Amino acid sequence: MILDKIEQLLKEVNSLKASNAEEIETLRLKYLSKKGEINALMSDFRNVAAEEKKAIGMKINELKQTAIEKINALRENIGTSDDSVADIDLTRSAYPIPLGTRHPLTIVENEIIDIFSRMGFVLADGPEVEDDMHVFTRMNFAADHPARDMQDTFFVETNPNDATKNIILRSHTSSVQTRVMETQEPPIRVICPGRVYRNEAITARAHCFFHQVEGLYIDKNVSFTDLKQVLLSFAREMFGVDTKIRLRPSYFPFTEPSAEMDISCHICGGGGCGFCKHTGWVEILGCGMVDPNVLEQCGIDSSIYSGYAFGLGVERITNLKYQVSDLRLFSENDTRFLREFESAY
Ligand SMILES: [Zn+2]
Repeated sequence: MILDKIEQLLKEVNSLKASNAEEIETLRLKYLSKKGEINALMSDFRNVAAEEKKAIGMKINELKQTAIEKINALRENIGTSDDSVADIDLTRSAYPIPLGTRHPLTIVENEIIDIFSRMGFVLADGPEVEDDMHVFTRMNFAADHPARDMQDTFFVETNPNDATKNIILRSHTSSVQTRVMETQEPPIRVICPGRVYRNEAITARAHCFFHQVEGLYIDKNVSFTDLKQVLLSFAREMFGVDTKIRLRPSYFPFTEPSAEMDISCHICGGGGCGFCKHTGWVEILGCGMVDPNVLEQCGIDSSIYSGYAFGLGVERITNLKYQVSDLRLFSENDTRFLREFESAY
């Protein structure tokens, strides 16, 4: 009886298999612990006839020894096969990892930054959550200007005693210009790229957030001619050497005089087509000479210094460059759309 049991256990032990440390521990408990199968043989062993005790005792010892060795061997195997080196098949072909692409807005923003950097503009950055002082007050916005209305701007926190302390999502990157003028001495020549927020219904032509690049140059004797030449150089770099520009009078609170700039339609070359509504021109940016009030608000002596500023929408330029008809495509993360720009940069 007991011999049969020993034989059977020996067979079991010899064919033990385990694939991790946990399984090995379960096997150890099953066979080698105090309450394990091998110790359980001892109760039968007591009833064995005296003359057989020696032989059977040796068999039990042999079984125990085999179990110990087997479990140790399993442990060693796990030790090596657990090593990640064993899992790497160096002969396998490379796994096809799909490469991402740059976002079209990033491509165009980088291009704009690159063009102005080559003209000596340096990058400036600022917070997207701003106070009214930096977004509106120092930019010469009147107290009752509609941009300060909740219908146009996202408010984070209002201050009933002092509107200039209202916390808002910046509605233009001009707030970065304010911060630069407050902290730097002229000459100042910066471009401020970044995301801005407006309380707009989301449609093909408008979104509640978009991207701007604004430029600011302040020095002695800066004139409108400087502005026009810099913008002409930009337009030619961005849209081709034959590009013409025209400036139309406009109004912004922070510049005087102000202008909107059009470029000759790069689809029809100025002859007129559906894209430019048969005018031959497409609008690309707003600009002007920095209002002396803005300079004074930011602690710069307007009797010594003058400057110009311009601002363009990255989505607008991207639309012109790639003829994207729906603004929403830029933020929907549809990879079919994004993959179109694989070769763009
Ligand atoms: Zn055209």
